[in-house]
Amino acid sequence: MKHDLERTPGMDASDGTFDSVQAFEAQVQTLVWPQTSWIGNAFADPANAELLPMRGSPVDGRTLPSLCAASAGLVDEAVRGARSALERGDWAQQPASARKRVLERMAQQLEHHATELCLMDCLSMGKPFARLMRQDAVKAAECFRWFAELIDKVEGELSPANPSRIGWVERVPLGVVAAITPWNYPLENIAWKLAPALAAGNSVVLKPAEQATYSALRFAQLAARAGLPPHVLNVLVGTGEGVGQTLVEHPGVDAVFFTGSTATGQRVCNSASRHRIKPVSVECGGKSPVVLWSGAGNLKQSVAEVCARIFGNAGQTCNAPSRLIVAAALVDEVRLYLDELASQYAPQDPRVGAPEHGALCNVSDAARIQSMVDTGVRAGAQIWVGGRCMQPVAGGAYFAPTVLANVDPASALAQQELFGPVLCVFTAQTLDDAIGLANDSTYALAAGIYTDHLPDALEFQRRVHAGNVYINGWGLDDISVPFGGLGNSGNGAKDKGLRAYEKCCATRSVTIRLPERR
Ligand code: ADP
Repeated sequence: MKHDLERTPGMDASDGTFDSVQAFEAQVQTLVWPQTSWIGNAFADPANAELLPMRGSPVDGRTLPSLCAASAGLVDEAVRGARSALERGDWAQQPASARKRVLERMAQQLEHHATELCLMDCLSMGKPFARLMRQDAVKAAECFRWFAELIDKVEGELSPANPSRIGWVERVPLGVVAAITPWNYPLENIAWKLAPALAAGNSVVLKPAEQATYSALRFAQLAARAGLPPHVLNVLVGTGEGVGQTLVEHPGVDAVFFTGSTATGQRVCNSASRHRIKPVSVECGGKSPVVLWSGAGNLKQSVAEVCARIFGNAGQTCNAPSRLIVAAALVDEVRLYLDELASQYAPQDPRVGAPEHGALCNVSDAARIQSMVDTGVRAGAQIWVGGRCMQPVAGGAYFAPTVLANVDPASALAQQELFGPVLCVFTAQTLDDAIGLANDSTYALAAGIYTDHLPDALEFQRRVHAGNVYINGWGLDDISVPFGGLGNSGNGAKDKGLRAYEKCCATRSVTIRLPERR
């Protein structure tokens, strides 16, 4: 795919990285930070608005620009505006080719403004700027293009009915869709929700995470520039329990698409149906197992892939492989590789160069993870690597890549999602044991196995409880491959691919009685 990411002074043109903190900060000075909700293709008036509690940047603790929370009245205005755009047919009734062009231009706008979007996300949620540019921005644009392409490709169905009738099934928009997104892949998170919902002709009201709000607001402004009519995409600023919940419960919302933690997902499922029935799709957390089994090919390469997926993005990835299950015969060798490879993910200043691991999203996260690790160690877990906070930038929130062994499989460390760079290692004597350990979780988002023995791989794939299974490569995710979890990881609805589009459509069955032949 062709990438057309913006380049700015002080940035290395070959890979989109800043070569110095000064160059990064000079660019930050040029940013115009959006601070109020986006409704009807305009920013809301900040007058009399309540401010969200100030947040410190996890990069260095600096205070970020204030954000004005949407009032209940503004939530209502956004939902009513979205409904009126729908009823006028401003978006859904445009020719497919026109809607396709708008989504393509949204991808283009995202690429042309990638630097400012990624600067905001870097300071707001702590991910390395280079990684945001190379991965998040690129994949988000790719997602909009993929769904743009789909718009004029999907067809309806003709039913094989009685010859005296014609029956068909057509896809229609669900209506007003509420999208609630997290902060860990800010641009991708919103692309996964917005692109299929808009492709299917819905109006969307987005409530992004408090930690990733600026780029969502700016992107909505860019979407208007790309030709999206007023009220088709609205973005509300606010907390989850406040604005998020008001939006989810709103009787004018026809469907809710959520990604976030399991506890919040449960709350969203309950509150969405408070006033009426509406489809709800929730993508939640995980505690994903990866098995290194006999004949795992290049074992060092496999361990390197696991490290990249659990330590990259500081472990703040819902399908990060946080439980490593190793065939007993391989444990000593695996430990050597973990020693060598994990430390390569030591957190670094996310503003310069191209580190894989930057800050944690919230200043409080470092202490939370430390406390979980310390509790596990007091209960007998053994630290192989890391296990402590680090401070590559004063005032920020950083945690060392951490590998723990001898973890009690029933403990919080083994069962709860840490959302941090912590890998727990377990040993299995038999494949049955490995599958038993893998399934010893209430989550069921992703699971993987590395082995060159196909029957073992297929046995694992068949018996493991997970919405996504990876064989010989973790996170082999393509935009065309649907993604989503089971159990406490979600209600089975998928993001990405054709399934995401289907999820965003209602179907209408139409039957015509044909006139009798004369
Ligand atoms: P995290 O714990 O990682 O911050 P959450 O699952 O709490 O993640 O948040 C994910 C998204 O859900 C965010 O946009 C957040 O504001 C929103 N949210 C949180 N609580 C609620 C709620 N009760 N109703 C609707 N949305 C919520």
